[in-house]
Amino acid sequence: MGRYLGPSCRLCRREGIKLMLKGERCISNKCPMVKRRTPPGQLPRRRSKLSEYGLQLREKQKVKRYYGLLEKQFKRYFEIASRKKGVTGEILLMLLEQRLDNVVYRMHFAQSRKMARQIIRHGHILVNGKKVDIPSYLVRENDEIEVKDKSKKMIAILESLKNVSRIGTVPWIEVDADNLKGRFLYVPKREEIDLPVNEQLIVELYSK
Ligand code: SF4
Repeated sequence: MGRYLGPSCRLCRREGIKLMLKGERCISNKCPMVKRRTPPGQLPRRRSKLSEYGLQLREKQKVKRYYGLLEKQFKRYFEIASRKKGVTGEILLMLLEQRLDNVVYRMHFAQSRKMARQIIRHGHILVNGKKVDIPSYLVRENDEIEVKDKSKKMIAILESLKNVSRIGTVPWIEVDADNLKGRFLYVPKREEIDLPVNEQLIVELYSK
């Protein structure tokens, strides 16, 4: 299945959680999820009771959409996670947190993961001093992420950085907003990742 091209807010309403897909709007009162938590459609609808498969599918869709992945990419992460020692669902989320687009977003160099992918692809981001233009690049502990010197005046990045003081950062990421750089201190544990999903249901879905 290809990339979804419809309205982003519709996806949040479908999944019943804030997927943070629209940058500035997501942290304002304009977010439709503040007032309307019903599924999309013209009339207010109740969430229908889901089958076991339906529940598993929804949890997978939430994670996939939150990190902005295609089905094939998501499955590949699941396969990598299932080959590693430990709890597969937790490892899956820990892996996704290491993606460069997610780290750039969490450092507030971009207002959404989608915008983070754009600035990475356009070569504005350095990892340990070297240009990396692959959004799926996996960041390691202690890696330094920096906006390239020539891009440090980009309005979109500077606007986004205002969120460092407005909403702060997560504990595993350090940001030096004045110098447009940051450090990925450690891979977060599952309980630190602010994503309200039951990842065990995803494991059950793929184990069928
Ligand atoms: Fe729209 Fe963002 Fe709110 Fe989701 S979180 S409904 S994308 S404004």
